[in-house]
Amino acid sequence: MKLLKYLTAAAMLASAALAMPAAAQDKGLVGVAMPTKSSARWIADGDNMVKVLQERGYQTDLQYAEDDIPNQLSQIENMIVKGAKVLVIASIDGTTLSDVLQQAADQGIKVIAYDRLIRDTPNVDYYATFDNFQVGVLQAQSIVKALKADTEAGPFNIELFGGSPDDNNAYFFYDGAMSVLQPLIDKGTLVVGSGQTGMDKVATLRWDPATAQARMDAILSSTYSDKKLNAVLSPYDGLSIGILSSLKGVGYGSGDMPMPFVSGQDAEVPSVKSIIAGEQNSTIFKDTRDLAKVTVDMVDAVMSGKEPEVNDTKTYNNGVKVVPSYLLKPVVVDKTNWEEVLVGSGYYTKDQLQ
Ligand code: BGC
Repeated sequence: MKLLKYLTAAAMLASAALAMPAAAQDKGLVGVAMPTKSSARWIADGDNMVKVLQERGYQTDLQYAEDDIPNQLSQIENMIVKGAKVLVIASIDGTTLSDVLQQAADQGIKVIAYDRLIRDTPNVDYYATFDNFQVGVLQAQSIVKALKADTEAGPFNIELFGGSPDDNNAYFFYDGAMSVLQPLIDKGTLVVGSGQTGMDKVATLRWDPATAQARMDAILSSTYSDKKLNAVLSPYDGLSIGILSSLKGVGYGSGDMPMPFVSGQDAEVPSVKSIIAGEQNSTIFKDTRDLAKVTVDMVDAVMSGKEPEVNDTKTYNNGVKVVPSYLLKPVVVDKTNWEEVLVGSGYYTKDQLQ
């Protein structure tokens, strides 16, 4: 009986201790600025950031700017006014934040660039992201593997799409992909039928699916009326959806017109379903739970005056300085491993994908 009482008291104490942090700890406000809700990945990023920050005793101010730059600027200004101690920012245009970040620096607020590098300012302290060059490498490798372009002579027709020209990541994705594709283009195994190469020609402003779809439509009618397209480098699932619908519009994916191998990124649900259905060829999974954890580790460190853990101190020069970074590993997902990677890791349930 005594023992039972003791155990009950101990259990009550333990549960009180567990309940304490959220209520009692207040480590201050962290502002989280996200670009848009139009893509599911950023919703997951925001949710995971708030979850991990709150678990560790922070208050949060999460804002989405719907890809509107002035909107994001005023959201960040508001966070400063509200007394945020740290700002975590996934920028829309990485070059537009210099003034507001000067205000932050003047008040001793630390700034962490989230996923996308913030450029042209000294006032960004750390950068948490994925290995963006490697994302492009994996996208291109998945295309090469599907075409068997490393062993067969081709020629295979390919078209290239890039991300938004105001997003630093877009150049890393493109350069990573071209590090794999260019040697095969030089050899004649791959042919860019439209002749459109280089970010100045292939970029897609604001990652807009409709823009990609319209460009794919135009290329198909100018270049592919009498030959077949075999692959499309697409840097993001949203663009892939636009590209696939353009391809379907002219008959690819049926009869004697197999669907070209289209890459992607973010493992968004509609695109994983498309992979399972045999339309999109691959995507890149970036576990936003891990990115949130790495970022909040950085927040914890800067709040206690410590140096956050980083694993890259040379790649991300923002035009003013090299921003110390933590790079996570992206994972390629296709029809052979979606279940193991996405369901096995608990990121999605199988029901969500079927
Ligand atoms: C992110 C990608 C995303 C793209 C479009 C990039 O900055 O790194 O994961 O696909 O933005 O939202």
